[in-house]
Amino acid sequence: MQVEVDPELCISCGVCIETCPEIFVWGEDDKAEATSEDVPEDLEECAQEAVESCPTEAIKEH
Ligand code: SF4
Repeated sequence: MQVEVDPELCISCGVCIETCPEIFVWGEDDKAEATSEDVPEDLEECAQEAVESCPTEAIKEH
């Protein structure tokens, strides 16, 4: 599983970072970004929760 934040859609609400801080961090321009494109298996559940919790559907899952 891979996740990627679209900075055009991110509104910097912080939900993904609160939900799954191992994967999502603040990047440039105060937009969220994924720390690693390959999500480790034990973090897939929280990464998935972050994808579903993002209010603007800015997190793309591959
Ligand atoms: S939940 Fe979505 S909009 Fe909010 S900071 Fe994360 S990527 Fe951005």
